[in-house]
Amino acid sequence: MDIKNGFIGSIGNTPLIRLNSFSEETGCEILGKAEFLNPGGSVKDRAALYIIEDAEKKGLLKPGGTVVEGTAGNTGIGLAHICNAKGYKCLIIIPNTQSQEKIDALTTLGAEVRPVPAVPYKDPNNYVKLSGRIAAELDNAIWANQFDNIANRLAHYETTGPEIWTQTNGRVDAWTAATGTGGTFAGVSMYLKSQNPGVKCVVADPMGSGLYSYVKTGEIKIQGNSITEGIGNSRITANMEGSPIDDAIQIDDTEALRVVYHLLRKDGLLMGGSTGINVAAAVALAKQMGPGHTIVTILCDNGSRYQSRIFNREWLASKGLMVS
Ligand code: PMP
Repeated sequence: MDIKNGFIGSIGNTPLIRLNSFSEETGCEILGKAEFLNPGGSVKDRAALYIIEDAEKKGLLKPGGTVVEGTAGNTGIGLAHICNAKGYKCLIIIPNTQSQEKIDALTTLGAEVRPVPAVPYKDPNNYVKLSGRIAAELDNAIWANQFDNIANRLAHYETTGPEIWTQTNGRVDAWTAATGTGGTFAGVSMYLKSQNPGVKCVVADPMGSGLYSYVKTGEIKIQGNSITEGIGNSRITANMEGSPIDDAIQIDDTEALRVVYHLLRKDGLLMGGSTGINVAAAVALAKQMGPGHTIVTILCDNGSRYQSRIFNREWLASKGLMVS
């Protein structure tokens, strides 16, 4: 028998998918870890589970308690599913710039959702800081604190990384992913380097994020902006601190969209914008490294979460973008 134990038992052990069109184009094996197949629909299910179970183990979260988080959506969706499965309440503070699909999904899941204006991290009313203050004021509540709670990257160090290593039989030359909290990038990088220090770990960065310049110059400098959601950062989070980083690749929205539509039309994969950044970076890396290499990245979430945005020509046009 091969039966998973409920929602929680169904998180992880996702397939590693060969992206045929890009593999053939580059002569490399371009492999995508199918995190959109997690039961909550994204890579963030893993972090959400580790954060909640860490709080339970530490005695911080007791039966009937509340999980509070500031999230661009996917972490909140993962947390809301797990809260339902474990009998907790869930309160989500979300910037009002995020897609309606994600807000609707959170509401459907029974989370209390508070959309707030999107303001920079240094502002005390930034959604992340606000969620921390709200959690501190509630009884029997935890702040998931995904950016600086390293239970997040531990999920990827203990599960995503080892799965990639096993699925490739240890034959992985490079790994690239965009970072939101950095949990996925750091956890997988740390695990792969522990198995083979020669694995190249490359940050994929959208415009409007400071990590590319940080890796290249040591300084966080932000230029441009991006329609991608859930990725990019203007600071080094606790999850990113101490992560191996060999290099960075910057991808603009035009290239990310080209890749998203290519994955849809040529590979049959309907993916979100961060996956466009990731796969575009994997292809750029393949071109840098030359044929014969195996490059792994993350297929973060499903494009249906962005139907009204990256798959809506009018919305794209309003952002000065188009697809051919
Ligand atoms: N892609 C999407 C769609 C996300 O929601 C996130 C998480 N915010 C990421 C990528 C990045 O994952 P991480 O937080 O582990 O860096």
